[in-house]
Amino acid sequence: MKREFAIGLLLCLSILSVQAAGPASIARAERALWPDGVAAVSDYNRASRAEALVFVNALSDLAERDDETLKATLGIKSVDRGSVKRWRDLVLTRLFENYRLARRSCVPDEAFCQPVDSPAALVEQGRQLSSQLPARYRPWFTGADAFHRRYVGELLRLAALFPKVSSEIDSFGAHERSGLELPDGHFLWTFDDGPTGAAGTTDALLPVLAQQGIHGMFFVLGERLQKRLQMDGAHAVQTLYDGQCVALHGWSHETHQKSPRWQASILDTRNLVQDALGAAYRPHFRPPYGQRRADSGPFFVENGLSVALWNIDAQDWNASLDARQAGERVLTLMLLWRRGVILFHDSHGKAAAAIPWIVAQTRDAGLSWEDCRHY
Ligand SMILES: [Zn+2]
Repeated sequence: MKREFAIGLLLCLSILSVQAAGPASIARAERALWPDGVAAVSDYNRASRAEALVFVNALSDLAERDDETLKATLGIKSVDRGSVKRWRDLVLTRLFENYRLARRSCVPDEAFCQPVDSPAALVEQGRQLSSQLPARYRPWFTGADAFHRRYVGELLRLAALFPKVSSEIDSFGAHERSGLELPDGHFLWTFDDGPTGAAGTTDALLPVLAQQGIHGMFFVLGERLQKRLQMDGAHAVQTLYDGQCVALHGWSHETHQKSPRWQASILDTRNLVQDALGAAYRPHFRPPYGQRRADSGPFFVENGLSVALWNIDAQDWNASLDARQAGERVLTLMLLWRRGVILFHDSHGKAAAAIPWIVAQTRDAGLSWEDCRHY
């Protein structure tokens, strides 16, 4: 999952980040600026409410821009206004629900605990946040505001292009899942683009997951798995993925929205994984870049496959984020969405350091790591 426009987008959004103290290109979700930690349930929920308020404020600002401004800002040639509106409404409803869930642990006079009775009231709270903010949260707010403006831009770009360019932003039917359907506090860890060669980053990650008691889902590329099987044999690769699940990312890393051989790409990879890894195989396909055809539903249903999208993107492929920063981004998005499917890449080395850090940060926050075998 690579976003070739991410760098350009980031530069463009710095123009919009009028409230940020510095340029958005260095805006990070710096968790150290949050003064309370997120390890306990009440702290986690307070941080979750705070992130929701900053996000909806950025969303209500950016989504209202006219088409020409959006095109220039997001670096795209057309804006599907219906898709943008549908996405914005869904997101506001979801964050309204999340804010209410996170308010359950509020005590009198606690920060970020104003009652809201509608998505519109949540947006209004978000607008007022900067003027009502207790001093101890101001350094965090400056960074969070810049982060969420950039993040809303990432999502808004996907929504504006959908369905002409499909992505994880929206669904083509009940055979597709993004992770947002999981219960509050539940997260599934997923890893794309592997396996790497022997002694590569895939091999380095697997013992880390075992140590953390995580059963994650690996979306493998057929051509990479075939190479690994030829090098090491099926038994070694079975042992490698012990306790984890293996699903499909297609034969090679190309868009499955435009490729004429997209069906063969999926079925060839399925046959290889089933033959070689048997018990670890799970019948899910994750499209590279999230791109699949709008009319592909019957193919997936007939073949007993689901389309496995995601709602939390680590962007760990991006050279401008180190492992800690990818981890901070994921933790911030976990606070925002409160559930979901987290996308890392085992073809890059950052997950092995980021995941133990996230697990430690949220140790007593009541979160559950979804078992890939039951997803
Ligand atoms: Zn990928």
